[in-house]
Parts: sequence; C-alpha cells; structure tokens
Amino acid sequence: MNAEIVAVGSELLTAGRLDTNSLWLTDQLNDLGVEVVQKAVIGDERARLTAGVQDALARADILFVTGGLGPTEDDLTRDAVAAATGRELIFDEAICAGIEARFARFGRRMSEVNKRQAYVIEGAEVLANANGTAPGQWLAVNGKAVVLLPGPPGELKPMFTRECLPRLQAFVPPLAIAKRWFRVAGMPESDLDQLIAPEYTKYSNPVTTILASAGDVEIHLRARCATGEEAERLCTELGDKILGLLGSRAYSLDGTPLDATVGRILGERGETVAVAESATGGMLAQRLTRVAGSSKYFVGGFLTYSDEAKAKLLGVPEELIAANTAVSEVVAAWMAANAREKTGATWALSVTGEAGPESATGAPVGTMYVGLAGPSGTEVKLLRFGGDRERIRGFVTNAALNFLRMRLLGLD
Ligand code: AMP
Ligand code: MG
Repeated sequence: MNAEIVAVGSELLTAGRLDTNSLWLTDQLNDLGVEVVQKAVIGDERARLTAGVQDALARADILFVTGGLGPTEDDLTRDAVAAATGRELIFDEAICAGIEARFARFGRRMSEVNKRQAYVIEGAEVLANANGTAPGQWLAVNGKAVVLLPGPPGELKPMFTRECLPRLQAFVPPLAIAKRWFRVAGMPESDLDQLIAPEYTKYSNPVTTILASAGDVEIHLRARCATGEEAERLCTELGDKILGLLGSRAYSLDGTPLDATVGRILGERGETVAVAESATGGMLAQRLTRVAGSSKYFVGGFLTYSDEAKAKLLGVPEELIAANTAVSEVVAAWMAANAREKTGATWALSVTGEAGPESATGAPVGTMYVGLAGPSGTEVKLLRFGGDRERIRGFVTNAALNFLRMRLLGLD
C-alpha cells in the first residue's frame, strides 16, 4: 500500500520550522510495509489545502494530514478535508465536554474558539489526544483512509502509536519487512554503484537505496514479503551478493559508523591511536572521541595548524618544512611518527593539506597527505579531493579513518 502525507502550516514553508512529522511518520509506516510515495507542505490556506487533499487522495491508499487542528482561524484542516471529501462537519458534544474538562484540570475556562476543535468530519472515528486539546480523526473514504493528526510532535507521536497503529494493522495487508544496512569506505559512490548495480537491479524486492556522504557510502536493502522468513531470505540472498563484490571495503554490516568501527577494532586488540592534525583542525579527534568509550583507545593528539606549531609541538624540523612546505609527504610522515613517539600510542594518524579556497603553499586545493605511523613503520598517502573546504575536510577525515582500519586489518 502507498501513503501520502500533507503537512499543514505556513510556518513549515519557512526555515523557521521544519516538517519533522512527515519524516517520523514515514519511518513508522515503512515498518508496517507502507511506502510513503509523496508528501506536500501546504500553507494555511483553505483552497490550496482542499485541492491538495483532493489530489493526494486521488492517488494514495492512505493519506495523513498533520497540523492545522488548532482552535484558531488559520487552523483549516478539518474544513479542508470535509470539503475535499464532500462531508459535513458535525459538532460533537462529548469532545467539547472533554476539552472543557481538560481546561478545568489546569484551572482555566475553555475559550469559545476551542469549540472549533469539537467538530468531527461526518463518518470519522475520533482519535483521542492524551497530550492536547485537538483530537485526531480517522476517516474511511471509498476504501481509503484519511487520517488527521495534530501538528505538535509531542501530541502526534503518542496519538499515532496508541490510536493509529492498531487501525493500520487492521487496514494494511500484513507484510513483513527485513532490512540490511551496510556501509562502505574508500570507494566513490559512482564506482560502487557501477560495481553492484548489475546485481541489485535484478531485484525489485528488496529495494536497494544508496546514500553517500564524504566518502562514506551507505547501502540499504529493504524487502517486503508475506512472511518474515521470506523477507529475510531475500535480503540475505542479495546482501551476500553485494558483500561478495565489495569485500573488505564494506566496513559495517549493521550501520555502525566508521569511527566506531575503527574504535571497536582498536579496543578488541588493546591498541591505541593518537592524531596530529593540520587541515582537519581537530575533526579526526572529534570523530574518534564522539564514540562513547573511546577513552579506551584514543590517547590524544596535536592540533598543529601553523608551521611553527608543527615545529614546536610536534618537533617537525623547521628546515624540512621550509624546504618542502607543510603540505608534503615528508611533513605528514614526521607529524605521524612524532605524534606516535610523543604519545606512546600504537598508531598515529596525521593530516596535512590544502582545504582551500586559496592555496597557501602552492599545492592545488584538495591536495591532502595522510600519514599513518604504526608498529611496522610510517606510511603516507597522497589523496586529491574536489569541492569546497568542508567537503574536502570531511572526505579526508573519513579517508584517514579508513586508512587506519585497512592497516589494522592487515589490508592494503
Ligand atoms: P498546528 O497543529 O498547525 O496548530 O501546529 C502546532 C505546532 O506544531 C506548531 O508549533 C507547529 O510548528 C508544530 N508543527 C506543525 N506541523 C508540524 C510538522 N509537520 N512537523 C513538526 N512540527 C509541526
Ligand atoms: Mg498550524
């Protein structure tokens, strides 16, 4: 079954408020095997809202409309859905009494405007709101379901869980979902896709999604079947084919991020890591320490941005920097080797390069040297990245973490 979502509220069209409800709802619906295929954000305007609801209802099996159930003039969802479905709005005494009682509990009197919230679309079931005044509504229309939910996430979520889930389970044909979440480093998204597309395009179930950011690519598989066993079987079948093609480039089979994966390997081996950072300005240390429990394997590091700091704090010879510039293989090697020696860590990673937009050393923007000092010596990789400063820094941070991961596993 397919669902659509209409998020109602003029504020959601601005940068001031983000429509988070639809994302949360999409997750919930996906878990039931319902695909959310389209969504819209519509401002508080009667005609557009009515037309938007009508359009969506012509396509979707289930339509969620969130927000606009408040007591004020600009809360038009009830009116618009009634108009779009050709139904009346009927005043419900019991809801009105409930709202009055809720106000009384807080020692207040209900305002006249709150009576608007007691109108129910003809034929709709009322969804109780334990956390606010606006009830939700569940309306069956020609074999489809239209569900009205309040905008505040603190009201919408419990209402969905308590009131909608049981109704959806009865409405949606039972479908089991199985998922896989792999992560891959050291491979551009396009190369990865070229490698695995011949396999995953043979399957319409599971559905494969590829998401890339800063040299870290996620592969999501989702199978929907009548039984859990069948869904698991399909995910395993395609997943194994994909993993076979990726080999050691797949660093996570359960979505664990790269920093935590590196940390786990270090922890298992009882080894430690230190960093010496220039171009990344602490990003490597941030990534490593963002993982809870990282004190077990992260020793510390050197933030040596200037040439002087590289010389003073890390002991990189000044003549060496003068002769080669700070963006050089030899400086990266010294940074890593000295960071390892000074901290006593098993491993030390260094990063020096040109993140742009201007080059200080003459090396092209995007040039990055990553050093790795370890028990059997020091190595340096020269990498080149395109894009803006933040992109380059994000990519080199992941590349450095992956460099360490590969050597930890004894891989080239
Ligand atoms: P409403 O039900 O339209 O009166 O919205 C009440 C509150 O919930 C407002 O503060 C909205 O910004 C917030 N809200 C409404 N819709 C959403 C949404 N789709 N995602 C997140 N917050 C929302
Ligand atoms: Mg609103």
